[in-house]
Amino acid sequence: MSLATPAVLERAAALPVDSLPAYLYDLTALRVHAAAIRAALPDRVEFHYAAKANPDPALLTALRECVDGYEVSSGGELAHLRTAVPGAPLAFGGPGKTDEELTTALEAGVHRWHVESVAELHRLAARRPRGGLDVLLRVNLPVTGDALAGVPLAMGGRPTPFGLDPADLDECLRLLATEPFAGLRLRGFHAHLASGLDAPALLALAERITDWAVARAAAAGSPIDEVNLGGGMAVDYTDPAARFDWTGYGGGLARLLGRHPGLRLRIEPGRAVTAYSGWYVTEVLEVKRSHGEAFAVVRGGTHHLRTPAARGHDQPFTVLPVADWPHPWPRGEVAGERVSLCGQLCTPKDALARRVPVDRLRTGDRVVFGLAGAYAWNISHTGFLMHRQPTFHLVP
Ligand SMILES: *Cc1c(COP(=O)(O)O)cnc(C)c1O
Repeated sequence: MSLATPAVLERAAALPVDSLPAYLYDLTALRVHAAAIRAALPDRVEFHYAAKANPDPALLTALRECVDGYEVSSGGELAHLRTAVPGAPLAFGGPGKTDEELTTALEAGVHRWHVESVAELHRLAARRPRGGLDVLLRVNLPVTGDALAGVPLAMGGRPTPFGLDPADLDECLRLLATEPFAGLRLRGFHAHLASGLDAPALLALAERITDWAVARAAAAGSPIDEVNLGGGMAVDYTDPAARFDWTGYGGGLARLLGRHPGLRLRIEPGRAVTAYSGWYVTEVLEVKRSHGEAFAVVRGGTHHLRTPAARGHDQPFTVLPVADWPHPWPRGEVAGERVSLCGQLCTPKDALARRVPVDRLRTGDRVVFGLAGAYAWNISHTGFLMHRQPTFHLVP
């Protein structure tokens, strides 16, 4: 099965050589996927998109009809989204908020504020927010057992700089009940604990978070009406056709809500929303052998598509053969063997895929890397070696 849709392959083949490397975003595929996520979720679950996964304005706009809002984690993202998706509800988080960010976010008016420390609560209250600010306390929950064992990225359940230690919660709840904090309205708790979990694992975590949050709030006499479960839905880079089981997850959340009438849940996935709608298209510049192994050097590399370097995986790809070879010298080629696809950077870390089998790959062939719609271009060290930046194209 090919990794890309016919529309994407056609566009990838038609791009002029001098526009390579290029990012292609399929907006129809994104809308269809996001609408399916929304449809799988119960009414009392709100769906926010975590903008840091890919803040491209075209993607943010395409998602507007399918999401209830967006999660932003910096003043830069906040300003960007206010322009890209004006009027959309924004939840504002982040572990290290500057004074400037506090001021501008308060002026901008955010839908929810995710507080990550006792000091941040003091700094917010000192600014005397008018009209009442809806806050969620982000907690690094004491998740016991092996709930987070082996996950690719863990933000909680162990010592991390994210959120409040459970020991600091009593102080926050006590402060929120006092007069100087009257401008802050406690809506509930927020817990984004890990990234890369499948639906059963994430559901088990959702139950623990929700049951804990409701019990903790009741014990403190501070009723809550919301729990934000975070994001972290897995994308399987070894199986590009696989999808997170949104139907199973939505069904599980519906059962959980059945136990907590009056509660609203929110999720804020990033990767599992946009990863499938982006492709990085490039061409093979060199095919060579070194000490018995085959290498294909492609135009561009991990300074444009950092995902495989950041996660240590092989980025899945499709080869688009190019028949034309106008030169009198022999064309570089590997066939029926393993090859490493590397970029143009002068470092052995610039590998997009290592020792992967190919039917045939030749100099001048195009390569279409998939699952490049999240944590790809926007996490890349784009200035390294001063190569030209990719071009961007939308498949409507
Ligand atoms: C990064 C992040 C997300 C999104 O995580 P994904 O793994 O992309 O789904 C959600 N919430 C917070 C607080 C985050 O930092």
